[in-house]
This record gives sequence, structure tokens and C-alpha cells, in this order.
Amino acid sequence: LFITFEGPDGSGKTTQLKKLANMLQQAGFSVIVTREPGGTSISDQIRKIVLSPDNSAMIGQSEVLLYAASRAQHVHEKIIPALIAGHIVLCDRFVDASVAYQAFGSGMEEAEVRAINQFATSGLKPHRTYMVEVPVEVSQQRLLQRAHSEFHLVLDRIEQKDSDYHNRVREAFLEIAEKEPNRVCLINGDRDKEVIFADIENDFQQSFAN
Ligand code: C5P
Ligand code: MG
Repeated sequence: LFITFEGPDGSGKTTQLKKLANMLQQAGFSVIVTREPGGTSISDQIRKIVLSPDNSAMIGQSEVLLYAASRAQHVHEKIIPALIAGHIVLCDRFVDASVAYQAFGSGMEEAEVRAINQFATSGLKPHRTYMVEVPVEVSQQRLLQRAHSEFHLVLDRIEQKDSDYHNRVREAFLEIAEKEPNRVCLINGDRDKEVIFADIENDFQQSFAN
């Protein structure tokens, strides 16, 4: 079973992913938690390049290809072998993030982003995607709070983009959820953590009860 979590920076998707992982582990399942960009040594090295605030010269094409290269390594080195071994894989971000950030955010052609990612993933699709959705003001506020509370934390190259960029990304996530209701479960992230998780747990039970 391959489950992904998507949503804007500061949406709380990572917190929810960890809760689902705990719940499944306590129920006796073997769970692999991973994230993008990253998840393997090579993918993590690429993560540093794409997210470094020093790399403001990065053009859109390089951005698309680097995220896709990170993802290709992750899918083939880690995700597919874990799925074959029977683990449940929970992944923080996947192809939807590239459609939202690189196509809608950075202005690259959506069809090209999808084609490159089709190549990178050999067509691997999540069985279910939890799309955690919050208004841009809420996610921006949470990011600033995080930067304040965690000593030395600076916003990464993407988080630093303006609110127009983040609005386009949010709209893209909503559009993906609307177009693929069978895969994507849209979750209102502007609520208490436990209330949000109750929705995810419910959906998960219903989707994979047998
Ligand atoms: O999920 P997380 O916040 O750790 O993602 C790291 C950064 O990578 C974020 O700033 C996110 O906006 C960015 N990102 C991106 N394109 C992707 C995946 C992540 O710009 N395809
Ligand atoms: Mg983030």
C-alpha cells in the first residue's frame, strides 16, 4: 500500500503522516515513513541543491529535473522494493507536489512536468493521497512561527517565495483534488490536529477495510 501526503508548506501534513504511521504500527503493520525531496542518500543530496537559498539562480527546467531525479532514485531504490516486501509506505509529498510547485508555482508546462515524472516514477501511483489544505495566510503564519521557535531555522528557497506563488500552489492542490476524487482525499487542515486526524483515520478505515 502506497499512501502520500500533500499540501502547502505549513499545512501540517507531516504531523498527520506521523500520526497515521503510529496508528498503523500499533495495529501491527510494518510501515515505512519517507519524504520528498529525499528518502535516499542520493535524493537527500539533491534536496540540498534544490532547497538551498543560495541557489536563487536556479531556472525552472533545472528545478523540474532535479526534483524528478530525486524522485526517480527514491522510487526505485526505496519505495518499490518496500512495496514488494509488503510494507505500507507513507510518503511526505510526491508527484502532485511537482505539478503544484514546478508547474503552477514556477510556471513550467504541466504536461511536460507530468511526462518527466511519469518517466522518473515508471508510472507508480499512490493508492490514496491525503491533501491537507489551509488558507495561504494560515500556512504563512505557521511557517514564520516555526522559523521563530526553531533556533537558526531559515525558510528554504521555495518557502521564501511570495504569496502569489503560494496562492498558485494552493489552487493547484485544490484542482488536483477536484480532478481525482477517487485517489485524493481533501482534508481541511485549519482545525485541531486530533480532529484532522480523526478524518484521515476514518477515510483510511473506509478505503482499506478489506
Ligand atoms: O515537505 P517539505 O516542506 O519538507 O518540502 C520541502 C520544500 O520543497 C518545500 O519548501 C516545498 O515547497 C518544496 N518542494 C517543491 N517542489 C516539490 C516538492 C517540494 O518546491 N516537488
Ligand atoms: Mg516545508
